Amino acid sequence: MPKPYDLLVIGSGSAGFNAARVAVSLGKRIAIVDSAPQLGGLCILKGCMPSKTLLYSTEILHLAKKGKTFGLRIPSATADMKALHARKKKIIGEFADYRSQALESGKYDVYRSHARFVDTHTVALADGRTLTAEKFLIGTGSKVSVPAAVPGLASTPFWTSDDVLDLDFVPESVIVLGGGIVACELAQFLRRIGSKVTQIQRSKTILKDYSPAASEVVQQAFRDEGIVLHTDTQIEKISGDEAGVAVKFTCGGKTLTRRAKHLFNALGREPNTDSLQLSKAGVKLTPAGRVKVNRWQQTTAPHIYAGGDVCGPYDLVHLAVAQGELAARHAFGVKGLKPIDPKLLLSVVFTEPALASIGEQERELTARGEKFLVATYPFNDHGKSILMEAHYGYVKVIAEPKRGRILGAEIVGTHAGELIHIFSGPLALKATVFDLLRAPWYHPTLAEILTYPLEEIAEQIQRE
Ligand SMILES: Cc1cc2nc3c(=O)[nH]c(=O)nc-3n(C[C@H](O)[C@H](O)[C@H](O)COP(=O)(O)OP(=O)(O)OC[C@H]3O[C@@H](n4cnc5c(N)ncnc54)[C@H](O)[C@@H]3O)c2cc1C
Repeated sequence: MPKPYDLLVIGSGSAGFNAARVAVSLGKRIAIVDSAPQLGGLCILKGCMPSKTLLYSTEILHLAKKGKTFGLRIPSATADMKALHARKKKIIGEFADYRSQALESGKYDVYRSHARFVDTHTVALADGRTLTAEKFLIGTGSKVSVPAAVPGLASTPFWTSDDVLDLDFVPESVIVLGGGIVACELAQFLRRIGSKVTQIQRSKTILKDYSPAASEVVQQAFRDEGIVLHTDTQIEKISGDEAGVAVKFTCGGKTLTRRAKHLFNALGREPNTDSLQLSKAGVKLTPAGRVKVNRWQQTTAPHIYAGGDVCGPYDLVHLAVAQGELAARHAFGVKGLKPIDPKLLLSVVFTEPALASIGEQERELTARGEKFLVATYPFNDHGKSILMEAHYGYVKVIAEPKRGRILGAEIVGTHAGELIHIFSGPLALKATVFDLLRAPWYHPTLAEILTYPLEEIAEQIQRE
């Protein structure tokens, strides 16, 4: 029997890789087990990086198509799908090679196999080997879910985000099921390359986890771009034949059927737990099926940690990285640790207009009965966004009413994903609106739009 490892990491994605990296820096002996044919994890291979590579191309395409608005003659701007696909493959290939080199640098023992627990300190690999360790990190990520409650979905051929990210042709027409982040980002990608897109969402709005006003801005932009959007629906039946797919659903008291060549199932993802034999290790799940963890990422078996999509609560890379790092530090007794602060939650939807939020939002503060001040300012009244023809959306700042400490912000509009970071440092440092107003703001920039809501909140406090 080989000597036990200090830490055995299952899954080498964002959570697993960063847990292993920190544990190595603490002088520990690490095993990483990953069953994927290619190393890199979801973010690099089939998540953030390929999607943002493609979305950036369609952002340029969209601007080029609007050339006349900017006084430019661009006769025909179209997507060259073979070239788009090749560029994405090259960029992703480089990121994945970089990650593989880091994993295979000799700092870790990497096992390319599937792992399952056989007892609290042992995992069995699919290749027949057995490994033991003092501590474990489960970072097995998530997979596309196929909700049984959607009649006909399981028996109808559909695309997942993996397929959409790998397209090398323009699909004639696509029905997108779902209104979450992945659904919306890729619905707009498909529309911008030239597909006819119908998006069907069960809730009253797309992007329902954000404020209704912000979702409404993205919905309006989608409709303006020609996405046929149905919200507040109930799917009755999905079926397919050689001609394509048909989705029958109710909406506003009517029964409608929409047809397209292809179906894109973007109804969500679920944690990858089913083949891990977690019960043999004493690891329990939440009612939602995620691995249950405490604020140090410990599972119900305290020497086994979890990080990333497998435990959530959100499928976000910066969270997976932070959880992996925290787990490794906690496992090996690093002093002075702080749990991840949910009040600093940062989220970006890379649609255009983009939607980004940080910290606490009106909905949760109101639900808790807390007092707050809020101010907004629209992009269609701001110099830089007007000259960019970027009229959609607004910026919103939320602050505590006595001293003006910033509690959160929401931005929907051009470059929202970049602009939201103006609040990252101030929020972490508990800055006030007055602190931010002391900072210099260059003119003319998109960023300076934030001075308007900051000033409004400062005036509200001074008037009190
Ligand atoms: C299309 C798309 C776009 C996205 N865009 C963004 C974005 O812009 N920003 C953002 O923050 N997030 C984004 N996400 C989410 C983000 O990609 C994930 O939150 C993140 O990658 C999860 O990392 P992870 O470490 O939990 O899991 P993963 O990176 O999925 O790693 C899990 C690893 O575990 C391995 N594994 C699983 N089971 C076993 C087993 N039993 N034995 C051995 N190995 C196993 C898998 O092979 C895999 O390599 C996107 C997701 C998608 C699908």
